[in-house]
Amino acid sequence: MDLFTGKLLWPDTLPNPPAYPALDDDIECDVLIIGGGVAGALCSYYLTKQGVKTVLVEKRSIGAGTTAANSGILQCSNDKTLTSCINSFGERNGVRFYQLCKQAVSELGRICSELNLDADYRNRNCLYVASKEKDIGSLQKEFELLQKHGFSVGYWGPEQISRHFSFSKPGAIFSEGDADFNPYKLSNRLIEALCSQFGLRAYTNTEIISHIAHENHLVFHTKNRSTITASKAIIATGYEAQQLKHNSNAFLESTYAMATQQLESFPGWFDQCLLWETARPYLYLRTTVDNRIVVGGMDEGTNNPKERDSMLLRKKDLLLEEAKKLFPELGELKAEYYWSATFGSTHDGFPLIGPQEAFPHCYFALGYGGNGTVYSTIAGQILSSLITNGFHPDAYLFRFDRPSRQLSHS
Ligand SMILES: Cc1cc2nc3c(=O)[nH]c(=O)nc-3n(C[C@H](O)[C@H](O)[C@H](O)COP(=O)(O)OP(=O)(O)OC[C@H]3O[C@@H](n4cnc5c(N)ncnc54)[C@H](O)[C@@H]3O)c2cc1C
Repeated sequence: MDLFTGKLLWPDTLPNPPAYPALDDDIECDVLIIGGGVAGALCSYYLTKQGVKTVLVEKRSIGAGTTAANSGILQCSNDKTLTSCINSFGERNGVRFYQLCKQAVSELGRICSELNLDADYRNRNCLYVASKEKDIGSLQKEFELLQKHGFSVGYWGPEQISRHFSFSKPGAIFSEGDADFNPYKLSNRLIEALCSQFGLRAYTNTEIISHIAHENHLVFHTKNRSTITASKAIIATGYEAQQLKHNSNAFLESTYAMATQQLESFPGWFDQCLLWETARPYLYLRTTVDNRIVVGGMDEGTNNPKERDSMLLRKKDLLLEEAKKLFPELGELKAEYYWSATFGSTHDGFPLIGPQEAFPHCYFALGYGGNGTVYSTIAGQILSSLITNGFHPDAYLFRFDRPSRQLSHS
């Protein structure tokens, strides 16, 4: 699948990533993980930490799929507001989803500290602004719900916003407890640490092309004619999993992002907090540890890579203009990096995590949606528990056959 086009920011921040051999032998393991992006890396973390004999295979190189295009924002709030989650799935499930996302943001920070990973993880506050006056009512309702359920949020009016920023907006929710990071470094550094400290075996340039499910085990075949025999497998192949089995809840569109040159300071940008808005599709902005601004959004409904890429230069200009409008005090801004990418979501707004009919002994970690890294962390926790204990109390939320509004533990 053609996942993205353009000049990506993150691979330039790690010019010599750790290298792994291609598999050229027949091997065995307890669990095979297919895919070396953030999802595969995080699933490997939870399994190897429990002593499970794990092999990870990647057909490109580590982090070279959608993970390389990921803007690196880690949020508790989602593309789908808490209000909307509760409408779709009921109060208990909607709130539980937001709580899981919140703990996953800090869990990623904990993993980076535990393994001393150089992944540029930073705690961040976040400003979620009303794009238009008409959004104020629903924004206030969202604020009240978040506050009622114990999330650290404040409501900011136009005056408070313009005191802290070089722009004004009709209203905003200011929240604590989010983060940003470098997804390419995270996947590379995490897999490197797991191989050296926890016995993970990783192979790149190793593509799985088919598998056979036996009663108690699976046999996978690679493009270069090796086999991997495993008791279980996790399919963490990102949007390309739709080529293996199309899920009616999943859909692919196009998105755009750019990164500016390195700046000296950020006047008019309180706390360098994360920024996003109520409009759909939304615009989002963050800064990086090397003082760039990453701006993204302007999504388009097409999933055709040619159509996606034909709009890239125009989208880059538009994203740059939006950043200039918000932060006129920053002076001349240039787009040193810009890219277009395929972006996957689900119709009901929850990621797809768990087993699927017709794939015995296999589990899928499909963190579709704007919070894909957070979902991948949740996927690692749930799937490692399903594999080692046969149960996880939150697995029902993300199962493939979930009916919205009627989710139950059974
Ligand atoms: C522009 C953009 C911005 C985004 N911003 C954010 C953000 O700010 N925050 C956030 O949380 N999420 C964001 N996302 C979403 C996030 O990028 C994804 O959810 C996440 O990176 C997906 O990781 P993954 O490991 O599931 O997939 P991938 O990174 O695509 O990894 C899957 C891997 O599987 C490999 N593979 C596929 N098939 C096979 C096979 N048969 N055999 C072997 N290997 C195989 C691929 O080569 C690939 O490396 C963004 C996405 C885009 C496009």
